[in-house]
Amino acid sequence: MTALPTTSATEVRADGARRDTALERLDRLETLLGDPYDPANPLGEAAVLGADERGELPADGERALAAYGLGAEFAPAALGGRFERADRFALLMRAIFRRDCSLGIGHGVTSFIAGLPIWSDGSPEQQQRAADLLCGGGRIVAAYTELDHGSDFTRISLAAGPAADGGYLLDGGKQLVNNIGRAEAAVLFARTDERPGSRGHSHLLVDLDALPAGHVDRTARYPTSGGRGCLLGGARFDSCPVPAAALLGEEGGAMETVLKVFQVTRCVLPGMVVGVGDSQLRTVLAFAGERQLYGAPVSALPLPRSVLTDAFVDLLICDALSMVAARTLHLRPAEASVRAAAVKYLVPKLLQENSYRLGVVLGARSYLREGPYAAFQKAARDLPVVALAHASGAVCLANIVPQLPRLAERAWQPALDARTSGPDGDEALFRLHDPLPSLDFGRLELTTRGADGLAGRLPLFARDLARQAATRPELAELAGLAGEFSDTLADLARRSAALPPLERTPVAGRRSFLLAERYVLLLAAAACLGVWRTARRSDGFLADPLWVTAALHRLAGRLGPRRGPLPQAAAGALFDELSARHDDARTFDLFRTRLALRAVPVKGVAP
Ligand SMILES: Cc1cc2nc3c(=O)[nH]c(=O)nc-3n(C[C@H](O)[C@H](O)[C@H](O)COP(=O)(O)OP(=O)(O)OC[C@H]3O[C@@H](n4cnc5c(N)ncnc54)[C@H](O)[C@@H]3O)c2cc1C
Repeated sequence: MTALPTTSATEVRADGARRDTALERLDRLETLLGDPYDPANPLGEAAVLGADERGELPADGERALAAYGLGAEFAPAALGGRFERADRFALLMRAIFRRDCSLGIGHGVTSFIAGLPIWSDGSPEQQQRAADLLCGGGRIVAAYTELDHGSDFTRISLAAGPAADGGYLLDGGKQLVNNIGRAEAAVLFARTDERPGSRGHSHLLVDLDALPAGHVDRTARYPTSGGRGCLLGGARFDSCPVPAAALLGEEGGAMETVLKVFQVTRCVLPGMVVGVGDSQLRTVLAFAGERQLYGAPVSALPLPRSVLTDAFVDLLICDALSMVAARTLHLRPAEASVRAAAVKYLVPKLLQENSYRLGVVLGARSYLREGPYAAFQKAARDLPVVALAHASGAVCLANIVPQLPRLAERAWQPALDARTSGPDGDEALFRLHDPLPSLDFGRLELTTRGADGLAGRLPLFARDLARQAATRPELAELAGLAGEFSDTLADLARRSAALPPLERTPVAGRRSFLLAERYVLLLAAAACLGVWRTARRSDGFLADPLWVTAALHRLAGRLGPRRGPLPQAAAGALFDELSARHDDARTFDLFRTRLALRAVPVKGVAP
């Protein structure tokens, strides 16, 4: 078993790196969230489960988050808020998702999504007004969805026609919009030009409370199976006047903005949702340690034990891809279109698959809505809902498919043909504690134009590892796996370059989608390898080849013929690490941060 790292959430690093105020805030937020097992805690498990049963958000919990000033996390620091880094923002929100997915979406993500077109296209006055609203605890909603059109934004029909006074008249409706019934403001995606083409839609920043009564109805509510506390609502507009000053950016420019700023949300959302998987694993680990069968705890049975260990490794994979994707927004924004789609596809998929397997370990208690493990069934219902929010897996793969041939030609084949090895000078992408330049929306691109500094690094990683393994036998398995991933990249390059024209479009067939899926696995493997390669010795567990070898082993199992389970020694060491974190009340992600548990719960087994 490896030594546990000593870095605490608030420690100044020994290498002199500056204080990480975002990690300090994370520590404070975790303290505010408090002990989940305290029945009097307004953000504890009992309050969260009770609110979910009633289809509400925990009211006292919302008040506590408002008092913490969560809204300021959604507004850029330059405008008086606290948003600086996408990776740290995901980590902060992860703490809330660990506690309650509904609170994460309902009290948070929605306003973050709505803010992005404002920070991207708004005038200085619009930006300051929105930032002040968020910092003061107000809400802005992102109103895109119309059930008639779903993901097909080109057909969105809410009309913003010209009004006599030079403003707009809204006619039509929006559905499935979080918080629209109670928000102060909305960013509406509306049609301002009836002509076909990509310039028919505009963003309008609308003061909802100022709309004239009788012209708007915001009372619709859509109950859901998971995320039940979320106030998914709808609005109906009937010749509803809004001023010309509501326009964000240029008229007709909303589609291009959406395609860019949604890269930001798709890169950070999955990193938050990792918290749901973390909590599910903690619940089942507690059960497996307490429940006695055949004279020993369930966790001593080989199969449940491997399910727990595999779920831990998959969480680490999810976190590596999430963090690298979020850092991409700052460091290689022109490559974010593909990475955003990849992380939004893979993370919810892995988490849901583990939710199913962990549910089997939890047995009958996986569907009981009361008792000591009831949090599990709530998370299991929340995950599929949050996976669909903001783009399904299929939509994400459809964004990748058209880019495959160019990636093959411009990034992968040249990387495979190169003969270089050693450090490649672009390691900031993987160094999770390194500072980042600010996020520049102007540098986001609609496509990567064939650039890929992540999967494109696999051949270099494989060559390096083969060289190191010659003198370090503990790296032999990892080197073999990295070589397999590099070979898979070569195969993917060949097959992508040979795709016929129709298979290079979003309406391509299954073959192209399978290639896109394989590519996502390569990106995840490269993210894990990169994080491990650049970890410092002081990062302890992160610098140990144990986890990255297990991660590549699991990813390789998805690529090819079924592999066996993790080698026994590695599985044992990983289970020890998992148990040590559990006993020590630490997270199961790459950061191993402190949890606000007073003590590891000994719940006993419900009858
Ligand atoms: C918890 C939650 C909160 C939400 N909050 C908001 C909000 O605040 N504001 C808002 O505007 N919306 C919100 N939504 C709506 C959400 O964004 C939509 O559900 C989403 O856009 C998908 O639309 P749809 O489900 O109608 O799917 P559709 O687009 O109708 O898709 C139907 C099917 O076609 C597939 N498909 C679609 N396009 C492609 C393609 N190109 N290639 C292959 N397959 C494809 C889909 O995967 C799906 O299987 C929320 C949803 C949830 C679950």
